[in-house]
Amino acid sequence: MATHQRIRVRTNTIKCRFCGSDDLSKYGKYNNVQNYICKTCGRKFAEINAYPEMQHPKELIVRALTYYYNGMSLKNIVQTFDDLQSVNINKSTVWRWVIKYSKLANQYVLSLKPELSDTWIADETMIPLWGKKYWFWDIIDADTRFLIASHLSKVRTTKDATKLFYMAKLRSKTRPKVVRTDRLYSYLKAFNKVFYSNRPERKVQHLLSQGFGSKTNINLIERFHGSLKQRTKVMRDLKKKSSARIILDGYVTHYNFFLEHSYLNGKTPAQAGGIGEGINNWGDLIDLAIRNPRANPKISLDWESEFEVE
Ligand SMILES: [Zn+2]
Repeated sequence: MATHQRIRVRTNTIKCRFCGSDDLSKYGKYNNVQNYICKTCGRKFAEINAYPEMQHPKELIVRALTYYYNGMSLKNIVQTFDDLQSVNINKSTVWRWVIKYSKLANQYVLSLKPELSDTWIADETMIPLWGKKYWFWDIIDADTRFLIASHLSKVRTTKDATKLFYMAKLRSKTRPKVVRTDRLYSYLKAFNKVFYSNRPERKVQHLLSQGFGSKTNINLIERFHGSLKQRTKVMRDLKKKSSARIILDGYVTHYNFFLEHSYLNGKTPAQAGGIGEGINNWGDLIDLAIRNPRANPKISLDWESEFEVE
């Protein structure tokens, strides 16, 4: 009985995008892209479009980040890949992708400074994480709803409020005229440290709201927290706190660039802040980050150690 002659394509990088087999034959070129036929499952596909040094197609990595920040668990992401594309990828691979490309994108977006309105609002919410109580600190721009910075801590000290304000200041192109907070003591000292100026043109006013009696505040903050419910899910999948800064900033990126707001007539906060053009999904952002590796090194250097979760 004649055995079937198999031609192995000797490459470490190209695998069938359907079944993962590396038993492939070349199958002609189309638009200069090599096509392959898989000897295992019989399906045809084009040479994969992959990020540098990665074995899997870009598309899978982009989906992994999108699913993850939409609140899907690692387990469900793995299951979805298996169901939809018959690709077998394990949880730790998905996790490595999320960390690697969140970090890259976060670093890049630090160089994109939005134009914000003159009122910023800071707030903290208590969330249980890893069996303990944690505080999420957020500062958002009133008009664009841009999430300027987030911080996570066990306690609410001046140091924590200072980190939040300082991150916000580094990220924005413009300086606010008013910063609204509740009456938490930590904000008072932090505000003076970060925003105080004796030059009249740089003066920022610290407005203390009457608890939740202030109507404008409460409406905005409540809607804002509603749209951040996903974040709690995203953070719950974290095993190590050392990744918390990356994931927290990754969520900030996801929220600002990819979540359209009805309040903004379907725009994203990044678009409202003038920095969202051409960035419609995680793929666009990762491509830009890879093309601009040295973007804003001064700020991104030591960002994690300086603003780490404690
Ligand atoms: Zn195959």
